[in-house]
Amino acid sequence: MTWPPLREELRGIEPYGAPQLDVPVQLNVNENPYGPSPACIADIATSAAEAAVTLNRYPDREFVALRAALADYLSRDTPAGIVPEQVWAANGSNEVMLQLLQAFGGPGRTAVSFAPTYSMYPEYARDTNTRWVAGRRADDFSLDLDAARDLVKTELPSVILLPSPNNPTGTALPPEAVGELCEAAGDGLVVVDEAYGEFRREGVPSALELLPSYRNLVVTRTMSKAFAGAGLRLGYLAAAPEICDAIRVVRLPYHLSAVTQAVALAALRHAPELLGKVDELRVERDALVIWLRDEGCDVADSDANFVLFGRFADRHAVWQGLLDRGVLIRETGPDGWLRVSVGTPDEMAAFRAALTDVDGERA
Ligand SMILES: *Cc1c(COP(=O)(O)O)cnc(C)c1O
Repeated sequence: MTWPPLREELRGIEPYGAPQLDVPVQLNVNENPYGPSPACIADIATSAAEAAVTLNRYPDREFVALRAALADYLSRDTPAGIVPEQVWAANGSNEVMLQLLQAFGGPGRTAVSFAPTYSMYPEYARDTNTRWVAGRRADDFSLDLDAARDLVKTELPSVILLPSPNNPTGTALPPEAVGELCEAAGDGLVVVDEAYGEFRREGVPSALELLPSYRNLVVTRTMSKAFAGAGLRLGYLAAAPEICDAIRVVRLPYHLSAVTQAVALAALRHAPELLGKVDELRVERDALVIWLRDEGCDVADSDANFVLFGRFADRHAVWQGLLDRGVLIRETGPDGWLRVSVGTPDEMAAFRAALTDVDGERA
């Protein structure tokens, strides 16, 4: 056997991750450019200090207070409301979704998504020995419902992963599409990954509204984007209580540290202020879409805090040109396209200036 005795199918695979480069303007991983406010930081510090007093003890395994606060927060997005028994959380929504595949995927089972889609999904499938099948989205990045339904009926997935708004395209799914897939999936789970849900445009509903209608629907969220908490590592989901209970079988004991729970609770207390920044980012996003179109780019409509634009004959050259000018974006998505996260007005001005410069050089 070769050393180290890694699983055969993992040999030679590079760990996933965007380059973490030290560049003045970082618009590559859809982080919130605004850190927490001084008041929020103070609350976080006090809460962490309080949690520190009992760090000799294991944390609340069922994170009761946090589940209640998350249920409360989610209830603003659905008239039916969300109760704590419908909420589950882990260290980032990536961990939540891995747990979903640990519990509901596995050998002999299939997970499905529709490309272009989030690049981590096939990794959860690989790591849990779940068969991975990727269908395709339509050319405008919407979901071709007939094709999607056909694929689901053929492959009979136990988990369907649907980011909405989609990463890397920014496309939100209409609720009718989610509903139809929930029907088509039978007893399979339909996971709507709303990592960017708070950034959706006016009038675009959350899939949370559909929870009372479909027991196989799971909606995931994260504090990494809207809550400016990428460093906190807190993701969560809302689903039927039986689904939350099932995940408890596969979670590691005490997976959410006392510090994580305390800090997440503190951040949630500052939701109104953090969501105020989200509104500013949505305005900045819409302006960016208009500017890019004025520049002659193709731009995918975005309900997220990033924009997919193109199309470039040599996208790598454009990406490199921007990097040479101190602006880091992401070379991802279908060939010819690039993705830029929405930053502060200053960062967006730097991006616009750099792109204009790169275009001028290439013209
Ligand atoms: C950023 C992102 C997440 C969030 O991941 P965390 O583990 O919560 O930081 C989830 N899904 C998609 C599609 C994302 O882009």
